[in-house]
Amino acid sequence: MRIVWVTGTKDTGKTALVEKIVRKLVDAGYRVATLKHTHGGFDFPGKDTDRHRKAGAEIVAGTGRETFFLIERGMDLPEVVGVLEMLDDIDFLVVEGFKSMEYANISTSTPGEFTLKVVDPFKIDEVDDLIELIERRSYGLLQDLNCGKCGFESCREFAKAKVQGDADDTNCKSQPDRVLLRVNGKPVPLNPFVQNFIARTVLGMVDALDTESLKHQKVDLIIKRPD
Ligand code: SF4
Repeated sequence: MRIVWVTGTKDTGKTALVEKIVRKLVDAGYRVATLKHTHGGFDFPGKDTDRHRKAGAEIVAGTGRETFFLIERGMDLPEVVGVLEMLDDIDFLVVEGFKSMEYANISTSTPGEFTLKVVDPFKIDEVDDLIELIERRSYGLLQDLNCGKCGFESCREFAKAKVQGDADDTNCKSQPDRVLLRVNGKPVPLNPFVQNFIARTVLGMVDALDTESLKHQKVDLIIKRPD
């Protein structure tokens, strides 16, 4: 999942730009998720779910034609990406409203260190040109290990090279091959031996369940520490 980050000062059309980028990516055949950072809450005052929450529920889910989860705490980007990856296979996450990130950025006002392009969201031609740039220069979640496997000294150097068109990889090279371990939502690096050990153990157990519906491409396992 590649990340595109939309920024700009107040009332410069950030949400209009997000809408246009999402439409263009979807038209190009990609599956897209969006993430909006807000200082306020996401209340729906007076609705049943709002009453559930005010009664003290930490997570309120609503389902019907659509499903949503309202969780009583903020999440950082790696945690949100982890949840999205568990839910579905998404090609692009378009983010609006975070203050500072090291991801491919489209700005509606002043450029920053990771800006691919400054655009006027209300000029359709500028937005039309964006998708190819986003395809070539955006990248997935950085593992923040500064391990150098990508050929750059740090994740920041890789990110800068990528937005400038000087790096070929789309993803950080420290992405787990077989097993992704997150502790409290944060990725933890595992060497190949440990990955294989975990994969064989868990898949062995799942296979032993011998249920046709459990033929797996990907297995999600969440472990909670007992109280
Ligand atoms: S491989 Fe990934 S974690 Fe390692 S330095 Fe490059 S971007 Fe950072």
